[in-house]
Amino acid sequence: MATTQRTYNLDTSTLKAGFRGALIQPGNEDYEAARRVYNGMIDKYPALIARCSDVADVIAAVTFARKNGLLVAVRGGGHNVGGLGVCDDGLIIDLSLIRYTHVDPETRTVRVGGGNTWGDVDHATHAFSLAIPSGVISTTGVGGLTLGGGLGYLTRKWGLAIDNLIAADVVLADGSPSSSSKLIRSILSMLALCCGIWTRHQRS
Ligand SMILES: Cc1cc2nc3c(=O)[nH]c(=O)nc-3n(C[C@H](O)[C@H](O)[C@H](O)COP(=O)(O)OP(=O)(O)OC[C@H]3O[C@@H](n4cnc5c(N)ncnc54)[C@H](O)[C@@H]3O)c2cc1C
Repeated sequence: MATTQRTYNLDTSTLKAGFRGALIQPGNEDYEAARRVYNGMIDKYPALIARCSDVADVIAAVTFARKNGLLVAVRGGGHNVGGLGVCDDGLIIDLSLIRYTHVDPETRTVRVGGGNTWGDVDHATHAFSLAIPSGVISTTGVGGLTLGGGLGYLTRKWGLAIDNLIAADVVLADGSPSSSSKLIRSILSMLALCCGIWTRHQRS
């Protein structure tokens, strides 16, 4: 565990040029808060935090990490107890700005952003008298909970959160976007090799 803040010699000028979200580095005002995750015992010092505003930002961040040989941690809701949403000396791809929920009452499906929390989803679906299996705490991320299967109040009747995932947009480790038509390959790649970032989920 790191105990002191380090300095890094990263040239972020090319990334900054097209990035719409926030790029946070050691020394920036927001750095201390931005490196924290839910588990207060995790104390890691990333070289850069890319708070992405959309899928283009995610692609740019993944490409930057690859070109600079940086370790990447992806953060959704930041609730992973082991602190998988942050790393020392690497790049955090923080999805917390990519939050939207679109409910389609006709198909009884919902599309959500890669950084959504379950509280966001419940708030939108309940207005249509709909609900999907999730967890028991509203601030947990949709992405991380689903990757772990996802157990909650509705599981006995309707299964795990991941059982209800029907499509996803994924940015692969080479920076290429993969659409829902390639769902199976993308999800398997991500689960088996840990090499994808969901930017949109569609659920029933
Ligand atoms: C208070 C609390 C209550 C909990 N309750 C439940 C519960 O009721 N049911 C249950 O099943 N689990 C529960 N959990 C466990 C929780 O599901 C996991 O800790 C999960 O990893 C949290 O997901 P997150 O997105 O918030 O975390 P993060 O730390 O942001 O991410 C966790 C992992 O998922 C990856 N990830 C997150 N989003 C994406 C994405 N969009 N694309 C690609 N990778 C992504 C991250 O890289 C990381 O490896 C709980 C945890 C806490 C702390």
